[in-house]
Amino acid sequence: MASAGHKIKVVCRVRPFLKTERADDAVAVEPNNVLRVSNPRDNTKDVKFNFDSCYGPDADQATIYQRDVRPLVETIFSGMSATVFCYGVTGAGKTHTIQGTESEPGIIPRAVEQIFMHQQRDALEYDIRVSYYEIYKEAVFDLLKPHDPGFAGLPIREDASRKIFVAGLSEKQVTSYAQFEGLYQKASGNRRTASTKLNNHSSRSHAILTVQVQWGEGARTWCGRLHLIDLAGSEDNRRTENGKDRMAESSAINRSLFVLGQVVEALNTGSLRVPYRDSKMTRILQDSLGGESLGMMVVNVAPGEAFLQDTNNTLNFATKSRLVVNKPVAHEVVEPRWTAADRLQHHRGAAAAGRR
Ligand code: ADP
Ligand code: MG
Repeated sequence: MASAGHKIKVVCRVRPFLKTERADDAVAVEPNNVLRVSNPRDNTKDVKFNFDSCYGPDADQATIYQRDVRPLVETIFSGMSATVFCYGVTGAGKTHTIQGTESEPGIIPRAVEQIFMHQQRDALEYDIRVSYYEIYKEAVFDLLKPHDPGFAGLPIREDASRKIFVAGLSEKQVTSYAQFEGLYQKASGNRRTASTKLNNHSSRSHAILTVQVQWGEGARTWCGRLHLIDLAGSEDNRRTENGKDRMAESSAINRSLFVLGQVVEALNTGSLRVPYRDSKMTRILQDSLGGESLGMMVVNVAPGEAFLQDTNNTLNFATKSRLVVNKPVAHEVVEPRWTAADRLQHHRGAAAAGRR
């Protein structure tokens, strides 16, 4: 699906093998932003997927940021909204990409730094506010407040101008990078607490950081927004876990990710009906995904045979066109493009298979 000019770019990132993993060549990045994956059902064939950008295990955080994220963040200073999602199974590198570590900072610290640098350069007075929340089983929780185990979630409302908002969500003003860092670290602590108490839900919830920048020019007020999102793990938990709670959790995750996929596809194909209302996350982000705003979906992939089934599910979700090739590249067979109806059918089939 990915090609220049789309509202939501689709970018692939394959992480390196970890020390505990045995390396193989089941997945490889090729020139021209192509990812080659072994066909799990037929080892004489490979499948190739196309992206707007495709990064291999050697790509560092700075390169990805400079090439694909920086230009997106810059657009908020013309009063637009920009969104970055990280999609993939648990262990594929979503948190590494969006948050990173002290020594290898990811998108969040770099973007906030870029915003403060921009403020220093400009003569304008920026009002910078941060909110950070989690969506777990279709309920919204504020991460800037301590975890309250009895709380059922914040409501979503529509204001008089039909703008969607999360009622009661905190918005903290930040005036320096250091202040942001303190806030973010405390919030991450809240997320961990919730996660320990609720069965490791951090891999089963979407975490959304929003940075809002507002400023006045003459009589007008402008507002730009950046959403940086660590999505719930896209693995199909139904394969291994079948407790009742887990089932409810899994179907909420699968459904919200499925809706997100449909929204991205509708926006990228210019479809008239964009199903924002079908999940909490897309409903909240509706204003930021529609109109002139731009986004990017990072598709995180773990390398190796062990993840091959997950990788195929991930790529089928994220890309529409694929190329099946014989292993020593002889004849190339182009599969027909998937239509929206095919995809729906595929998802229904997968869901039915999961229930059986
Ligand atoms: P996820 O958030 O998708 O579950 P993580 O970001 O926690 O996955 O990554 C899983 C493991 O892989 C972590 O130990 C992380 O440090 C490591 N990792 C992920 N991506 C990279 C990368 N690009 N370079 C080095 N290590 C990585
Ligand atoms: Mg993670």
